[in-house]
Amino acid sequence: MKTILVTGGAGFIGSNFIIHMLEKYGQEIRIINLDALTYAGDLSNLSEVIDYSNYSFFHGSINDDSILESVFRNKIDYVVNFASESHVDNSIENPVIFYETNVLGTVNLLKFAYKYKVKRFYQISTDEVYGSCDNGCPFNESSPLNPSSPYSASKASADLAVMAFAKTFGMDVVISRSSNNFGPRQHTEKLIPKVIEMISRDNKIPIYGEGKNTRSWLHVMDHVRAIERVLFHGKRGEIYNIGSEFEVENISLVKMILDIADKSHDLIEFVEDRPGHDLGYSMRFEKIKELGWSQEIGLEEGLRELIKKQMA
Ligand code: NAD
Repeated sequence: MKTILVTGGAGFIGSNFIIHMLEKYGQEIRIINLDALTYAGDLSNLSEVIDYSNYSFFHGSINDDSILESVFRNKIDYVVNFASESHVDNSIENPVIFYETNVLGTVNLLKFAYKYKVKRFYQISTDEVYGSCDNGCPFNESSPLNPSSPYSASKASADLAVMAFAKTFGMDVVISRSSNNFGPRQHTEKLIPKVIEMISRDNKIPIYGEGKNTRSWLHVMDHVRAIERVLFHGKRGEIYNIGSEFEVENISLVKMILDIADKSHDLIEFVEDRPGHDLGYSMRFEKIKELGWSQEIGLEEGLRELIKKQMA
């Protein structure tokens, strides 16, 4: 039985990952979820697995040595680090916590993973570390890091720390950088669930600038399956981009949601742009495809399912 420590498992992507892994691998794996339960963590995301004998939860921070001591005594084979402050807007308001969690927290976790000789440390990262597309797209895994926001700078710093632990201490590490995720269990602070929530109340939808910024949208279950591939089959020390074929301007995305929900485009309201707002991120992602992964869920198909669920 392999023991996987998932940090930040009560959040959006982490909870979908835990459920997928427990359903797929059953008693072949044991999952320990360590989460600080910030405003973004919600244990009800995990209600369907909470009673599983091979799932357990520790409430605490990746910055806290005493909780990490008790967690790592459980003979951890793999660490998958989802724990993060993840909202760009918050990083503009309050950058410090982003460096505490995303940088210092990751380094602390690396320290314990090394001390307890885990088989593999997996850092969940983002395409935002490459910076905005106006600097030359599409990015590949060796494109320079050129982050724009305190959030993306903290994630880029964490990636560098992970690679440094591999070089200095010979640790087995992997990193993946994914494009924007959408799907069930996402906090309503993020664009897609926020828009769905607003239109369900017929509220105006604020769109930054002219809505011309583009994002590539990846369904969270496609991301989760990619993480599974990298965790078990990724090459030691490698970085994998996990991209999407569905690259759209924010304004087109919002119109698509309004059309699916049969709501008027008049609900759109343009507001002052976010400072340092990246135009777009576009990545090449052949490497993850070579591991046998492919994107399965279309943007419109995923949105339809989500809107049906969230507006029910
Ligand atoms: P999220 O905000 O939904 O969840 C983050 C989780 O981390 C929460 O449960 C929170 O309680 C927990 N957490 C925060 N600080 C912690 C700490 N100090 N110790 C332990 N737990 C802590 O985030 P998400 O959208 O699920 O993102 C997960 C990871 O994926 C992040 O590293 C993020 O950078 C990355 N990522 C997200 C996206 C996306 O579109 N959501 C895209 C690319 C990469």
